[in-house]
Amino acid sequence: MKAFTFVEAPDFETAAREAARPDAALKAGGTDLLDRMKERTAEPAHLVGISGIVPREKIRVDGSGMTLHALVTLTFLSEDPSVRRHYPALAEAAAGAATPQIRNMATLGGNICQRPRCWYFRLEEYECRKKGGADCFAFHGENQFHAIFHTEPCACVHPSATATALMAYGATVVTTAPGGGREVPLDQFLVLPDEDPTVETILKTGEVVTAVKLPPPHASVRSAYVKIKHKQTFDWPLADAAAVLRMDGRICREARLVLGAVAPVPMRRKAAEQFLAGRVVDASAARQAAEKALDDATPLAKNGYKVTLAKVALERAILAAGG
Ligand SMILES: Cc1cc2nc3c(=O)[nH]c(=O)nc-3n(C[C@H](O)[C@H](O)[C@H](O)COP(=O)(O)OP(=O)(O)OC[C@H]3O[C@@H](n4cnc5c(N)ncnc54)[C@H](O)[C@@H]3O)c2cc1C
Repeated sequence: MKAFTFVEAPDFETAAREAARPDAALKAGGTDLLDRMKERTAEPAHLVGISGIVPREKIRVDGSGMTLHALVTLTFLSEDPSVRRHYPALAEAAAGAATPQIRNMATLGGNICQRPRCWYFRLEEYECRKKGGADCFAFHGENQFHAIFHTEPCACVHPSATATALMAYGATVVTTAPGGGREVPLDQFLVLPDEDPTVETILKTGEVVTAVKLPPPHASVRSAYVKIKHKQTFDWPLADAAAVLRMDGRICREARLVLGAVAPVPMRRKAAEQFLAGRVVDASAARQAAEKALDDATPLAKNGYKVTLAKVALERAILAAGG
């Protein structure tokens, strides 16, 4: 591992100033970053620890919804009674991620900013597009776990389970930076690799995620998250799905349906949402909506099976939310 300096920031403003230094990296729980440092695919010269920042409030609930501090852990999200009650898909996504030990360390901010788990990206020997190289080795190579949408110019999938659920709820990311912070909808915060495959977010140098905001819960809104994985623990999703439905009895009035682990960002499936709106949520409607959601998938040579898995995950999420 390359030598680096380390500073523990007492607050996000200090963290942003420190992170603006050349070759700096933020470390929250460190469960992703330290792996990459040990694998020599991240070699920061200056590490800025933020896990010691003590949140004044982990959660704030007011008329504009729920604000979650960026340093709340996945364990907290999976156990907090008000998250479980009002945003069950988020609680479920957090509960199913990784292992208890990792969930105790992993933070919400780190979870949405974690880097992809593509094995070519994670091996220092491969100078792939995500590392500034000319090729996506997964595209013609070992692509069992890769994208089935937006497979070019980089076929990685977004690894965050919470992002799948948060996008379905219409969450917003709050940041601070030396030049001033901003609030950005999550679906604009996470970016496809089209313009710059080396990044997954719009974060600028020195910009720090401080919170994630969720719109106010509504009694008629029901939601669910379903993850399908190879092993039942210690694993990333092969496919996951979140459904947030505004219900009127058994009829869905409005749907937000998101698929995860199928593209470089979690994918909202608008044709499926439109199909479901106005229909009774039953097995047939859920199956047809899921079919529509995967209509335009373009799997690679070795991951056609993920189309079926994603369909099943979405069908189950729709039924769990609205059935
Ligand atoms: C075996 C295993 C299985 C896993 N399974 C899953 C899974 O199923 N689902 C899932 O979602 N995840 C899974 N993970 C990944 C794990 O959840 C992430 O590593 C973790 O959420 C990252 O959070 P962290 O706080 O440790 O981030 P760190 O490792 O500290 O940081 C991750 C990245 O985000 C940046 N960052 C961190 N905080 C901020 C911030 N506030 N503002 C701006 N940038 C920031 C860092 O600079 C770094 O680049 C798994 C991990 C392992 C090892």
